Amino acid sequence: MRAVTLPSGIEIPVIGQGTWRVGEDPRRQKAEAEALQAGIELGLTLIDTAEMYGDGATESFLGETLGGLRQKVFLVSKVYPQNAGRGRLGRACDASLKRLRTDWLDLYLLHWRGPIPLAEMVEGMEALKAAGKIRAWGVSNLDTADMEELMRAGGLACATDQVLYNVTRRGPEFDLLPMLERSAIPAMAYSPVEQGDLPSTGALQTVAKRHGVSAYQVALAWVTRSPNVIAIPKASEIKHVRENRAAAELQLTSEDLNEIDAAYPPPSRKTRLAML
Ligand code: NAP
Repeated sequence: MRAVTLPSGIEIPVIGQGTWRVGEDPRRQKAEAEALQAGIELGLTLIDTAEMYGDGATESFLGETLGGLRQKVFLVSKVYPQNAGRGRLGRACDASLKRLRTDWLDLYLLHWRGPIPLAEMVEGMEALKAAGKIRAWGVSNLDTADMEELMRAGGLACATDQVLYNVTRRGPEFDLLPMLERSAIPAMAYSPVEQGDLPSTGALQTVAKRHGVSAYQVALAWVTRSPNVIAIPKASEIKHVRENRAAAELQLTSEDLNEIDAAYPPPSRKTRLAML
């Protein structure tokens, strides 16, 4: 699968797997575990989670589910903003590592900006890196001005900004995605298929029909059309996991892109970064 290179030089797959609301309901856990494991075998080895998900339940579920697959996986977790300060960050990271049954995180993200000064968060993240508990750190839900402030606060090693971005939410294209690209920081698109609620008719379907794929696959190929954007769809149905993997091979033509632009126009002015 096509890879995206992080500032540290590490390559990660352009499509991964999200886990929000995964592992919380015992009746669904078997299917969710099978879907995640199938995705990893297919190459969707980037797994995104957070201490917030299920109040730790999702990380614990992943700890059980990944088992012997841990070495194959690029594991991402996120810290609550209120836990990102001196002292608490280390404890939050240790708790995530314990639940995930691993000694290291490949990437640790600030979930959204909160009360802790960015310079203090950076210092804490760098200390975790030096201690070998995380391989890289990044942020989530930071808009352009926040990212510029982060750079001034010593955050040049930031590996990604994970943001809400999909065909129906193109706001980040106005200035955030260009700024990230200039800084060689890949964006990680969350909710890349609008939480399973893409429009059921229109341009996505027209393009999908032309390629013999689903509208969801078109939406994923569209989000990852730039070499600087990674997508982390969540899918608990194996059929969806397979489709998402195949979307990484789908090449959209300029005709496809023009039709999508006509139906879902790019932003013509700055809007505040939306978050879920
Ligand atoms: P999403 O990935 O856009 O959508 C997930 C929904 O889409 C599920 O209902 C899934 O169905 C369905 N789906 C997935 N692939 C499909 C396909 N090929 N065809 C049809 N339906 C498909 O939404 P999300 O879970 O909100 O976002 C993805 C991940 O981003 C999260 O899981 C989480 O890891 C991360 N995230 C981060 C933040 C943040 O603040 N940093 C916020 C939100 C999300 P099934 O499950 O039934 O297969």
